Amino acid sequence: MALLQTVPASSHVDNQANIATILPANTPMPLCCDACDHEQTYTMTHLRQLPTIVCDECGDARPFSAFELNIIENTLNTMGYFLQKRA
Ligand SMILES: [Zn+2]
Repeated sequence: MALLQTVPASSHVDNQANIATILPANTPMPLCCDACDHEQTYTMTHLRQLPTIVCDECGDARPFSAFELNIIENTLNTMGYFLQKRA
C-alpha cells in the first residue's frame, strides 16, 4: 500500500499510539496512475485543490476528487497522523 511508505517511521512511538502526529500540509503523497501504474508524488497542499492529475509516463489525465482526498486523510487519521490545515 503506497500510503504507508510515505509516513515517517515512528521509531520512538510504541506505547503511545493515541498521540497524534501532525504532518505538514505539504507532505508528499505518491499516487499511482490508473492507466499505467506509474507513481507520481504530489503534495497534500496541491491535492487539496482537487487538481487534474496528468501522468508523466502515459499522459493519462483525470480529476482528483474530494472523495479520494477524504480517503487519504481518513487513512492517515486512522494511523494517528493528522495533516496541518495550512502550510
Ligand atoms: Zn500513466
